[in-house]
Amino acid sequence: MRDVVIIGSGCAGLTAAIYSGRANLKPLVIRGHEAGGQLSLTTLVENYPGFPKGVQGPELIEMMQKQAAEFGAEFLEGNVTRVDLSRRPFTLEMGAKRLETRTLIIASGATAKMLGLDSERKLLGHGVSTCATCDGYFFRGKPVVVVGGGDTAAEEAIFLTRYATEVTLVHRRDQLRASKIMQDRILRNEKIKPVWNSVVADVLDVEQGHVTSVILKDTRTGEEIVYPTHGLFIGIGHSPNTELFKGQLEMNEVGYLKTHDGPKTNVPGVFAAGDVQDSVYRQAVTAAGSGCMAAIDAERFLEAEG
Ligand code: NAP
Repeated sequence: MRDVVIIGSGCAGLTAAIYSGRANLKPLVIRGHEAGGQLSLTTLVENYPGFPKGVQGPELIEMMQKQAAEFGAEFLEGNVTRVDLSRRPFTLEMGAKRLETRTLIIASGATAKMLGLDSERKLLGHGVSTCATCDGYFFRGKPVVVVGGGDTAAEEAIFLTRYATEVTLVHRRDQLRASKIMQDRILRNEKIKPVWNSVVADVLDVEQGHVTSVILKDTRTGEEIVYPTHGLFIGIGHSPNTELFKGQLEMNEVGYLKTHDGPKTNVPGVFAAGDVQDSVYRQAVTAAGSGCMAAIDAERFLEAEG
């Protein structure tokens, strides 16, 4: 029987592990199918406090993991396949393996939706990005392309106009899905050039190891053009990794876990941290902050139970 099990090994999960490890709770971190979370898919992180010259995302994650291990956190490879939060202790299954825990911290994150192109995966962190706040600064004085027609794409496009010479917004239809106010901002902004009825059919150049252009395909005619650019931002939304908890924890209409009073879910003893419960800020530092809160609340919960 464990005191604390943490599902997820991104910034939120590892911060929770540092805090609960330091509280002598010997947390067990289940690393999950995207071990290290979204930071491990990025390159330079320039906005995490304490690193004036920036830090590589995977290196930051590795340091957090070492720090958690220093305080006694243990790590388990693999995925949770089933949870039962209806009675305590909570039970978790990982295939045939079964675990019991008095508290659970869910930090399973969210996954940025991708277009599904091989080249897009290969160039992620090398010109392809899913986060303008994280990577926009690298495109100072350069043209970029944003894909999507919702609020995420609109927000990314507007943010990128601070740095880029031109932001091409590629949308598969001729009408944005974004809220009216964001649509107005997009259409008024002289630096944003919408390209309607088009999709990104490929990203070049995998051979060179960075983005040089995208292939834009007209959805009506099928015509393809090579469109030079330095960056491709995929802004087609995120999916929270909450499938496991359906029917057991309260979620909003798009599947993010609902929390109250900080990291508390509707089940006492179950806490949520990071992007799995945050569709708004989605930053490494906010995920770390909420991981810290979840660990402190788990510790208090255990203390109150005696
Ligand atoms: P969304 O509203 O679902 O929009 C996704 C957009 O991406 C849609 O325009 C969709 O096209 C397009 N898309 C999806 N899959 C695609 C694909 N494979 N290829 C090309 N295009 C694709 O997602 P979101 O923009 O992330 O917003 C999610 C929720 O969060 C919304 O409720 C939104 O209002 C909210 N949000 C709010 C803010 C804010 O208020 N500041 C910021 C971000 C998000 P179609 O339109 O053709 O379906």
